[in-house]
Amino acid sequence: MDLKKYVTTVEGWPKEGISFKDITTIMDNGKAYRYATDQIVEYAKEVGAELIVGPEARGFITGCPVAYALEIGFAPVRKPGKLPREVISADYGLEYGKDTLTMHKDAVKPGQKVLIVDDLLATGGTVAATIQLIEELGGEVVGCAFLIELEELHGRDKIKGHDIFTLMKY
Ligand code: IMP
Repeated sequence: MDLKKYVTTVEGWPKEGISFKDITTIMDNGKAYRYATDQIVEYAKEVGAELIVGPEARGFITGCPVAYALEIGFAPVRKPGKLPREVISADYGLEYGKDTLTMHKDAVKPGQKVLIVDDLLATGGTVAATIQLIEELGGEVVGCAFLIELEELHGRDKIKGHDIFTLMKY
């Protein structure tokens, strides 16, 4: 299946100069959503994932069905003030702005093999901060899976040494 047919490019959103890749037009097509999920499920099996971790909010949409298919857990990475129990934090720089990500302190078990799933790899700031959180909790990041990689932003340079799986490159 040519998944790129289901991606919508929105020019100038959320601000001037940004060419935003909207993946909701994958999710609103049952076959495309399932196809994309199945590809990541296969990758998750290859790397032996025992837990899926996804950054809010599109990491939930892409990561949760993978966890469901494999009958393994999903742990959310969220902006500050959203998780109700004790958290750890990591700062990161976004393609547009700066922010902090948090995770529950008991979300990852020491030695657990973790696959990070998100919709899109841009500058790599989000995934780098997510790796930092998982490793601080003693987890082993066995891979990072994305629907889309924006190659010109060189996000993969920020997470050198980690295995990366992407379904579409732009
Ligand atoms: P990075 O931290 O610069 O790699 O940006 C990736 C994060 O920002 C992911 O969590 C994406 O959901 C979000 N993001 C950045 N650009 C886009 C886009 O064009 N479409 C959808 N999400 C994006």
